[in-house]
Amino acid sequence: MDQNLISLVNKLQRACTALGDQGDETALPSLWDSLPAIAVVGGQSSGKSSVLESIVGKDFLPRGSGIVTRRPLVLQLQKIDEGREYAEFLHLPRKKFTDFAAVRKEISDETDRETGRSKQISTVPIHLSIYSPNVVNLTLIDLPGLTKVAVEGQSDNIVMDIENMVRSFIEKPNCIILAISPANQDLATSDAIKISREVDPKGERTFGVLTKIDLMDKGTDAVEILEGKSFRLQFPWIGVVNRSQADINKSVDMIAARRREREYFANTPEYKHLARKMGSEHLGRVLSKHLETVIKSRIPGIQSLISKSIAELESELIRLGKPIATDAGGKLYMVMEISRIFDQIYKEHLDGIRPGGDKIYNVFDNQLPAALKRLQFDKQLSMENVRKLITEADGYQPHLIAPEQGYRRLIESSLVTIRGPAEAAVDAVHAILKELVHKAISETAELRQYPTLRGEVNHAAIESLDRMRDESKKATLKLVDMESSYLTVDFFRKLPQDVEKGGNPTHSIFDRYNDSYLRRVALTILRLLFLSFSETTGSTVLAYVNMVCGSLRNSIPKSIVYCQVREAKRSLLDHFFAEMGKKETKQLSSLLNEDPAVMERRSALSKRLELYRSAQAEIDAAAWAK
Ligand code: GDP
Ligand code: MG
Repeated sequence: MDQNLISLVNKLQRACTALGDQGDETALPSLWDSLPAIAVVGGQSSGKSSVLESIVGKDFLPRGSGIVTRRPLVLQLQKIDEGREYAEFLHLPRKKFTDFAAVRKEISDETDRETGRSKQISTVPIHLSIYSPNVVNLTLIDLPGLTKVAVEGQSDNIVMDIENMVRSFIEKPNCIILAISPANQDLATSDAIKISREVDPKGERTFGVLTKIDLMDKGTDAVEILEGKSFRLQFPWIGVVNRSQADINKSVDMIAARRREREYFANTPEYKHLARKMGSEHLGRVLSKHLETVIKSRIPGIQSLISKSIAELESELIRLGKPIATDAGGKLYMVMEISRIFDQIYKEHLDGIRPGGDKIYNVFDNQLPAALKRLQFDKQLSMENVRKLITEADGYQPHLIAPEQGYRRLIESSLVTIRGPAEAAVDAVHAILKELVHKAISETAELRQYPTLRGEVNHAAIESLDRMRDESKKATLKLVDMESSYLTVDFFRKLPQDVEKGGNPTHSIFDRYNDSYLRRVALTILRLLFLSFSETTGSTVLAYVNMVCGSLRNSIPKSIVYCQVREAKRSLLDHFFAEMGKKETKQLSSLLNEDPAVMERRSALSKRLELYRSAQAEIDAAAWAK
């Protein structure tokens, strides 16, 4: 094969490898499919195997009279950079054949294995690869000969079966057809011409090869055909003289055979003028040239396929994220960076840049006030309750003027109920803050890559929030407790006036009666009077409780924001960051343990991308090659 083609195909071969031709399961369209295959078609014993062999330049195919090729042989020539050439069968993986006589024997043995030692023909191909520094990547296909009738030992539909099988190979647009017709038979009956016309009516990929020119009847010649006069094809006919059966039997080698062929055309008067355009070597050159044209015409398509694949790979790699740094510093930096990104996203939720933080204010504006309202101080401080409480507190010796114990009891017992809503507000805000952690985690694309780190960040954030909630609860409940443990004195100093306004002159009555009997009577009266007075007491207490409740309604949110929201914004991951600083490389690595599937995918993708890029360079170089 000529040097241009070899270097062109070698460039493509490297691209091929990159594009995953070696049976890669990711199944990108294969370049083998873009590269042409060469198939020989023709009748039985027309010389197909002989022609194929001389193209390869190697004796390895079973040849002979009768039906020798009884299964298709798909032969992949694969260029290797160095080393001894060898052959391998798909059905015998890992067995390297270096002796090509043994290859020929295995082909016929494998044929027999499928068909038995009969004349039966099978459509199941044998796959053979030849690895050599002296070949280019090409697929050659040797096919059983087309027949007209089934012979003894063959099934009835064999004729159609062979034809269909042959057609299935040669109808592929990238198949170059060598239509083999023996010169010693009438071309009008040529099966090769008939079937190749069918699949390639314009003759754009069919080469007519006339064999056995040396076996023509004396007095006849093929000049008319070879000159394209009697039977025109798109490409000129090429006549060849292969080794005869006698040559094969005598093991005449390829080199000697070629020399004799050259001499034949040069020395036969009828063909002398055509000599330069005849023979196996010329056929080889013509095929090379044609392959080159075909391959070059495919290059733009291959180039765009590669660019498209590169773009796809790159975008998937971006989606998968950057690979992990290898040193401890880099790892720590990465952990910090990623955590900071999460922290930032979390803050944005609290700051209203992202949604969700507003729910906190709903707790303060609606939930807390509603909960406080549900405490129903007006019912707690109803007449009956007040009466009962005051009586119980003062017993039979009521302090008629200022039943202080009673007030205290009343107020304390009312205010203490605010603890409930206060605690509930702390918990509600805590739940929202936690929910935002989950939200921010899922929004941090960088964390998706590292499940372990994601778990740790989540854990650390929730732990911080738990701590903040505990602090907040302490502080907020303290506010409530503080309010209930000391009553604002001023508020009650106003009380006597209120009472006088109510028209209850308790002071004067009490002062006037000093006598013990009278005193007892007076006490009874006073008690009755007092009971009517307790309504006023109740409303005074209610007013006070409402006042305190109103101020707690404002200070509870302040405490919660201070202890939880502000703290979450300021120091959610402080503890985590401090812990990270103390970690060793190994621990950091385990933190950055990626999903193994992601890791695998990324490394596969990067490897592929690298190959594609070099393939792209090779193909570009091939495109410029002359
Ligand atoms: P296939 O059945 O089409 O594959 O044909 P083969 O390549 O096996 O050849 C069949 C027989 O024809 C063999 O004995 C070959 O030696 C012989 N043969 C093929 N081509 C030529 C030729 O050009 N000249 C002569 N003399 N014999 C040939
Ligand atoms: Mg054959």
